[in-house]
Amino acid sequence: MNILVLGSGGREHALAWAIMQNPKCDRLICAPGNAGMDAIAECAALDINDGGAVVAFCVETAIDFVVIGPEAPLAAGVADRLRAAGIACFGPSAAAARLEASKAFTKEICAAVNAPTAGYAHFTDAQSARAYVLEQGAPIVIKADGLAAGKGVIVAMTEAEALDAVATMFSGEFGAAGAEVVIEEFMEGEEASFFVLVDGETCLPIGTAQDHKRVGDGDTGPNTGGMGAYSPAPVLSDAIAGAALDQIVRPTMAEMVRRGMPYQGVLYVGLMIRDGQPRLVEYNVRFGDPECQVLMMRLGAQALDLMLACADGRLDQMRVNWADDHAMTVVMAAQGYPGAYARDTEIKGVENCPEDSAHMVFHAGTVRVDGRLLANGGRVLNVTARGATLAQAQARAYAMVNQIDWPEGFCRRDIGWRAL
Ligand code: ATP
Repeated sequence: MNILVLGSGGREHALAWAIMQNPKCDRLICAPGNAGMDAIAECAALDINDGGAVVAFCVETAIDFVVIGPEAPLAAGVADRLRAAGIACFGPSAAAARLEASKAFTKEICAAVNAPTAGYAHFTDAQSARAYVLEQGAPIVIKADGLAAGKGVIVAMTEAEALDAVATMFSGEFGAAGAEVVIEEFMEGEEASFFVLVDGETCLPIGTAQDHKRVGDGDTGPNTGGMGAYSPAPVLSDAIAGAALDQIVRPTMAEMVRRGMPYQGVLYVGLMIRDGQPRLVEYNVRFGDPECQVLMMRLGAQALDLMLACADGRLDQMRVNWADDHAMTVVMAAQGYPGAYARDTEIKGVENCPEDSAHMVFHAGTVRVDGRLLANGGRVLNVTARGATLAQAQARAYAMVNQIDWPEGFCRRDIGWRAL
């Protein structure tokens, strides 16, 4: 079959890499793609948020199945347009994508089924939000309702910080995303991510992971899109994952069906775990980046079969074949990230890294110009390895990092510290 992957990050390179290994894939096109995807598939220029353009491209190139990587095309209804045109695709409808696009919506769904999550209230004016903060006290969490690329959440440790955050949110800085604000109870605990495929009815867990959000070693410095990840996450034991499925995922997915907006795709379940009990922090309606890279490394070719079954409503017939393994990805970023950074710096040595089922350098922000590999983003490479133990995966990943000659880049040296 002919398959189209939408997106241009490390997440989409990892999806493309897993899909390519499955003999069902005859032709793979990535749009818009990057230098890494260009090396294993075809890349096409396409506005991936324009549903009409994506459908037209699929008809022209006889695409049988579309995998949507990022949240923006999902929120823009690209999956709806594809399904309406009779093209199978992996990813939820715009209505169901509100689980990520609106924090107030997710809170309301959780409240309807009593799913464990932080207590909350939601506001459309600064004055009542301020009054609520003063009544609740700190620590407290202030969130812009809509998509704000990870920048719309302030965990305020003091009342003054919380009031500042309320002022910022209602200042218009976040545009439409900040017109509504959710204020949440602060949850203590350890965070982990749980990934579940959902075909409307059936929920099939496909793995756990832990991300590293801060830019610096020891979890210091500003927040980023993620500096590394590993899978599985030991904190998310089978018992806790089972509790999250029974108390959070299945009831909320049933509520989506009841409201006439069944969820189809991968559900990223962000959990806070304390005293063996999971509570929901957030839902995302797509794979995490870089968590996807470690999940794909562990799943390999079966990822395509699972995504096809998800799109066809056949998840009840599927099971995941787990190897007893661990995977880790180390993000190499341009110096200065998450602040200002230089572009077009040259990266050498990637070709010296092994490429096999236990080693892969996924590309995030790269381009190839005249045969030279150049960085063109903040997060640039995802150096990913698999091992019988997490320590082995870590040793393999950092051995590859050491092969890469990129003076203008950096990475964290402690990915995996929590689990090791
Ligand atoms: P992203 O998708 O980039 O993770 P987001 O903008 O969707 O972020 P959330 O995931 O809701 O926002 O929150 C971001 C981070 O803030 C969480 O990963 C968590 O560390 C922290 N956080 C959010 N809500 C709470 C809470 N109620 N209590 C404690 N920490 C929280």
